[in-house]
Amino acid sequence: MQKQNILFNLDDTLAYCNRYFNQVIGEFADQMTIWFDSITKEEIEQKQLEIDLESINEHGLTSERFPESFVGTYHYFCGLTGKEKNTSDIEFLRELGFKVFKIPVEPIPFMNETLQQLKEAGHQLYLHTGGDEANQRRKITQLELTTYFEHRIFISEHKDTTALSNILKTIDADPERTWMVGNSLKTDIVPALEMSINAIYIPAEQEWEYNMVEVKVKPQRAFLTLHSLQEVPDAIHKHIMEEDQFKNNFSSNSFNVYNQKEDGDNFFI
Ligand SMILES: [Mg+2]
Repeated sequence: MQKQNILFNLDDTLAYCNRYFNQVIGEFADQMTIWFDSITKEEIEQKQLEIDLESINEHGLTSERFPESFVGTYHYFCGLTGKEKNTSDIEFLRELGFKVFKIPVEPIPFMNETLQQLKEAGHQLYLHTGGDEANQRRKITQLELTTYFEHRIFISEHKDTTALSNILKTIDADPERTWMVGNSLKTDIVPALEMSINAIYIPAEQEWEYNMVEVKVKPQRAFLTLHSLQEVPDAIHKHIMEEDQFKNNFSSNSFNVYNQKEDGDNFFI
């Protein structure tokens, strides 16, 4: 079997992530509704999301932006309601935001089994994750991911097509034998399709609005949607077998056509 290069995303592909952010955003909104009793929890969460997404566009996926989005939301509603800003409130919110980076992460079911199976099949596994170095390394260490990825780990603050293109150049990957597996249409799937590699989309249990975009790129290779990580090895192996079958059929059909043409030419001579 042809060995493949398989790039995995980390957050919400191999380990849970959004659930921790949602938990902390919930605590934030609860506290804010106590300070701003005329504002609903939904309005607070919507504003926080808006401020957070604006900040990513400007600064990338740095950890600091998340607690700062709480502070920004607080400033916004103080301005809107006339509430006096309080330094201890701001400090409280900043600390609450940073709490998300201290929660131990849990692997998605079958993470170890899936990676082990692909490793044993001889494929080269890579990790491509978005975020800042310290926070992503914390999770990689905690989940003992170097067992599977060793030094083949890439952390991007701007996780886009340029970042993927640089990785593919670094690892000198043949697009036909290279895969990106991830939960984000925006940062995993669209870049993979734009780079003409194979893509596997596994939707997350709870998705972040940032990751949801319409896919307008026409796939040049396999583009699969799976609903569980453990389906990945069979899906890739099935695709390799189908490709081999197609190539074998194609070469034997070409041979037949060639022979028929030769026969025909002979007939007319
Ligand atoms: Mg992800």
